[in-house]
Amino acid sequence: MSSLFSLRPSTAAQHHRLSLSPPPPPSRLPLRPHKPVLRSRHRVKILALDAAQPFDYEARISDRLHKSTKLKIAVIGFGNFGQFLAKTLIRQGHTVLAHSRSDYSDAAANLGAAFFSDADDLCEEHPEVILLCTSIISTEKVLRSLPLQRLKRSTLFVDVLSVKEFPKSLFMQILPMDFDILCTHPMFGPESGKNGWSGLTFVYDKVRIGDEESRVLRCQRFLDIFAKEGCRMVEMSCAEHDRYAAGSQFITHTMGRVLEKLRLESTPVNTKGYETLLNLVENTASDSFDLYYGLFMYNKNAMEQLERLDLAFESLKKELFGHLHDVLRKQLFGKAEGLEVLEERPVLSKLPPNGAPLLPPPDSVGVQNS
Ligand code: NAP
Repeated sequence: MSSLFSLRPSTAAQHHRLSLSPPPPPSRLPLRPHKPVLRSRHRVKILALDAAQPFDYEARISDRLHKSTKLKIAVIGFGNFGQFLAKTLIRQGHTVLAHSRSDYSDAAANLGAAFFSDADDLCEEHPEVILLCTSIISTEKVLRSLPLQRLKRSTLFVDVLSVKEFPKSLFMQILPMDFDILCTHPMFGPESGKNGWSGLTFVYDKVRIGDEESRVLRCQRFLDIFAKEGCRMVEMSCAEHDRYAAGSQFITHTMGRVLEKLRLESTPVNTKGYETLLNLVENTASDSFDLYYGLFMYNKNAMEQLERLDLAFESLKKELFGHLHDVLRKQLFGKAEGLEVLEERPVLSKLPPNGAPLLPPPDSVGVQNS
């Protein structure tokens, strides 16, 4: 009832501050002039704490604004990367529900997300977006285990897998036609994105988004989460992503893991280049082996990159040993004339460009004269 006496319908906080005693009765009512008007401070008192009323204009507007910009997102796979993303989703005001093979109730509560150990319970909450953050190699199993019939018919499915053709084809095979599909790859992780996402690349492919305005907007609102953080938004097909990523991301992870095996240590005389290598190890070593294995197994371009790496290393070693051989021969035989050429060593001067056959054509093989 206090709103009858408040100065204007507003939020509960304002009612609290502004509610006064009832205003004086209208002048046509008989007043009792003999009684002095009390001006004591006691007349200002709180009558009640009221909830927002249905006519509370500001509350309704803000509620409508919230609903039009915020999403209810179910994160499936609440491990390293799932939690990393959830932090930002929650900070931006989205509602996050989480589900995972392991029990992450405490971690979810700390972040402000609701954890559901049962996928049926989660789906009955009717999230607008299902965000798949499972390991690449477990994705098919997890997707097939979801009770899709409990979701709303037009749910948006998004994945963040580091390979893209594989989840796209899984989604197309498994999800009913009513569901929308957005394949994405935030090309950063808990380590590289720990100080914010500004300038970091976010790749996406709108694989299947219905024409209805609400569906188009929902997809846009999801993408806006990353755009708002300052990500460099790159729209490209899943196939294109996998081609580029094999030559960049897979090579990066492979080199990081090779260097990790060398157990590099910081020294008192680190160069900038060496510091870069140490950072590379730090960036890649914190990712799970499942992730790296997924990059290899589920990107058809990865095997070619591994072979190129092998070939490049071999060719470099041959180049080095070739020079060493020259020096040794000169020392052994001096400048003696008429020496027979002992052997001709083929050296691959340059690898063929990405995508070209790896066997060197005859004219790309240089002959190192001894
Ligand atoms: P990950 O090892 O690739 O995946 C861990 C997640 O997969 C956990 O949620 C884990 O659940 C779940 N999982 C693993 N095996 C499972 C199984 N057999 N059944 C059910 N769930 C299983 O590490 P991640 O770094 O968190 O990556 C998650 C996804 O994000 C991957 O697809 C990755 O490619 C992508 N991604 C990662 C990064 C990054 O920098 N880390 C960057 C971009 C994209 P439990 O924890 O409950 O066991």
